[in-house]
Amino acid sequence: MSEKLRLVEMPPLPSGEACFHYEEVSCSRCFFYSPEGDQDTQFPRGECRRWAPKPYLSQGDATEAPVVIEWPVVFGGEWCGEFKPEKEGF
Ligand code: SF4
Repeated sequence: MSEKLRLVEMPPLPSGEACFHYEEVSCSRCFFYSPEGDQDTQFPRGECRRWAPKPYLSQGDATEAPVVIEWPVVFGGEWCGEFKPEKEGF
């Protein structure tokens, strides 16, 4: 990304903390973001497909499998250092 980045204020996080990010850099604009459900909400969500899903211990009752394997779920306005513009593809 050689273009100049623009810092913008996002709606506050559910915790009430202020949230800023670079307009061009967010999970919802990342190649690895897989949208889940309605994206026209204040906090759209999706799965991050950057890395293979990871197992974790279930917090559910005894009828559930003790180990669950899922993709990490992220908010569309978040980002990480693995961000890749969706238009770049592979
Ligand atoms: S967590 Fe990182 S790699 Fe995953 S969708 Fe968000 S910016 Fe992309």
